[in-house]
Amino acid sequence: MPVTSDVTRPDAGSAEDGRLPINELFYSLQGEGTLAGVPSVFVRTSGCNLRCWFCDSYHTSWEPTHAWMSVDAVLDEVTAYEQAEHVVVTGGEPLLHDGVVALLDALDERGYHCTVETNGTIYRDAPIDLASVSPKLRNSTPTPERDPAGDGEWADRHEADRVDLSALVDIVETYETQLKFVVTGPDDLPEVEALLDRVRDAAAVAVPDDAVLLMPEGATRDRLAETRETVAELALAHGYRYTPRLHVDLWNDAPET
Ligand code: SF4
Repeated sequence: MPVTSDVTRPDAGSAEDGRLPINELFYSLQGEGTLAGVPSVFVRTSGCNLRCWFCDSYHTSWEPTHAWMSVDAVLDEVTAYEQAEHVVVTGGEPLLHDGVVALLDALDERGYHCTVETNGTIYRDAPIDLASVSPKLRNSTPTPERDPAGDGEWADRHEADRVDLSALVDIVETYETQLKFVVTGPDDLPEVEALLDRVRDAAAVAVPDDAVLLMPEGATRDRLAETRETVAELALAHGYRYTPRLHVDLWNDAPET
């Protein structure tokens, strides 16, 4: 399981003074989705309202670590990567934090293309160029037998909160959106299709199949090797896109990738 507890910005503060809890800030290739392969600065906030058992950013959810950074301090670090035109604001769940809107406003003013990676349970009005939404399926629930904390305490809360149809529809209607489902196998597809039906029934905009991406579950090369072929075949069979996890292929589970 990837860990990044090596936070080197000992910045005191809190959300009250507009700061954001930042877990990682780094430059890499976007690994997932329609922009896979695009050089991007990643701003990873800490804190999540869910607890997927397979979370690949464990230190933003199960054991959150962070430094409190002002929007200006984040901007200073982002703009230091002079070659970057894309910024990915990710988490954890970045839309939990009020301060993320000011950050997105500031990035937009500077002309960056901003992707926000979200679980789709929170809507915010902000300049988002691509909402990369990963709605969580039943396969994500930390049942007692697969709970990393070992106590099953999050299972009911996660199960109750993992889909918010109203927020999801607001996001889909407002932003260019990709819906990226973490898939473990064929048993997940009926749930994907049922959720898509609910979103399509409720949304005032079309949700085409090529905005739907199936992504193999797996945060390590070994685990991806077990899931990706099956998920690729499911994408072919159902007419959805397949998305790789390029950063895992390239760097396995190394932090800051
Ligand atoms: S929603 Fe994302 S960040 Fe939150 S626990 Fe699940 S995988 Fe981790």
